[in-house]
Amino acid sequence: MKHGMTTLRLVVLGAESVGKSAVTVRFLTRRFIGEYNSDKDLLYRSTIKQEDSFIELEILDTCSQKRNSEVPRESHVQWADCFVLVYSICDVKSFEKCKYILKSLQKMKSPFIVPILLLGNKKDLDHRRQVGLDEGHEMAQENSCQFYEVSAAETFMPINIAFQALLKDAKVIQLQ
Ligand code: GDP
Ligand code: MG
Repeated sequence: MKHGMTTLRLVVLGAESVGKSAVTVRFLTRRFIGEYNSDKDLLYRSTIKQEDSFIELEILDTCSQKRNSEVPRESHVQWADCFVLVYSICDVKSFEKCKYILKSLQKMKSPFIVPILLLGNKKDLDHRRQVGLDEGHEMAQENSCQFYEVSAAETFMPINIAFQALLKDAKVIQLQ
């Protein structure tokens, strides 16, 4: 066992086609492929270096549930240590969906604190923007989430920074 090893489980949630898979693959491989399998949940395992320790990370990239989709699956919520909620800045409905998911998550996890990262993806499509940067900030602040706008299509670094910030929070909570 490596020195300072922690295991963390992360679930990626959000509406269909917002870029959940693109963001996940970008973080894990630094690459953007363009089209992703979207008909099943995919589990990834990876060892992430953070400062001088290692995190054994499991990421569940979920596919969209058709029915009752504002409520995350109980089994996912029980399994996870932390969550990434993705919306597209060009899709106000996907932003609304994150709002509902946030509420459900907090209800389901209560009284525990859940580390959540809210990601406004597709920042490269600013000409089609439907959700303001300030709206994202506000929702994150109200729900004590980390928040970043990113583009899975364009850059790795902001996504890496966002995920690392979440993992840092999750690690602290796990050690408490
Ligand atoms: P998911 O259903 O939430 O997993 O979404 P996907 O990751 O499969 O992405 C849905 C579509 O959006 C695909 O065609 C992606 O290539 C595209 N996409 C994902 N992220 C971005 C992004 O940051 N910018 C742009 N322009 N397209 C993106
Ligand atoms: Mg997907």
